[in-house]
Amino acid sequence: MKIIKEISEMHEYTAKLKKRGHSTGFVPTMGALHEGHLSLVDRASAENNKIIVSIFVNPTQFGPGEDFDKYPRPLKKDLKMLKETRKVDCVFTPDRDMMYPPGAASYVTLENEMANVLCGASRPGHFKGVTTVVAELLNIVKPDRLYLGQKDAQQALILSKMIKDLHYNTEAVICPIVREKDGLALSSRNAYLTPEQRDTAPILYKSLQMAESMVELGERSAETIKKEIRRKIKESGVEIDYVEIAGTEDLAPAEIIAGNVLIAAAIFVGKTRLIDNTIIKI
Ligand code: AMP
Repeated sequence: MKIIKEISEMHEYTAKLKKRGHSTGFVPTMGALHEGHLSLVDRASAENNKIIVSIFVNPTQFGPGEDFDKYPRPLKKDLKMLKETRKVDCVFTPDRDMMYPPGAASYVTLENEMANVLCGASRPGHFKGVTTVVAELLNIVKPDRLYLGQKDAQQALILSKMIKDLHYNTEAVICPIVREKDGLALSSRNAYLTPEQRDTAPILYKSLQMAESMVELGERSAETIKKEIRRKIKESGVEIDYVEIAGTEDLAPAEIIAGNVLIAAAIFVGKTRLIDNTIIKI
């Protein structure tokens, strides 16, 4: 498994892969890897013959006062984990100055409501950071396929749109959410939870499951479902950031459950912000 830090070396490496006719799958991450990340590697490995993973904690997607400084960076452990999969050919680990050289002032932004709702409403500027760093990474890695998790549903939608709008020659592949046995979606941020908070955290998934049952039983009012989700979360003493039901294409708020809708929520367990979602297809 090759470890590359320099952008110029990455350009050379990917050019060589192209010349030799390899198909490439790319999994961008911020490290602190878990089975969710590895599921993307597995999928990429099933569909491509060369796999590239990036590890970069992207400063531009964190707002002031967010957890950029304390975000876990267990690089050695991550590299060991990736090596042990025997599926990863190259790990790209650029540093901050390489991705954002002093004086860099160019950004990629999705300028419509999709970037301003749900997580975009609570984290202003977050998606500008995400689209910018992924645009950079796509320019550097030039993969045939880009692997993204449904865990970050809004991010996956926004990046798929960016790829289409800007004619990147890459296919976005969105992979299912990997969960703990009790339903908690795997996240690098779960490491922040105290044992007590960890016991409370599955309320997020449980409330989404309750919403799914409500729809199965015939409930079609988005407002009623959101109210019930909020009630259930509040009961457990957890603070709600948002609970939204939106169209899966444009993230426009849905009033009625019909077609494909995304039910997404974010909560604060202590200071830790957790997100989760489910897609309902009727
Ligand atoms: P991150 O390191 O948090 O930026 O995540 C890197 C990629 O892994 C993103 O595409 C995430 O959506 C995906 N991911 C994170 N957690 C999970 C999970 N529990 N299941 C599936 N994919 C995930």
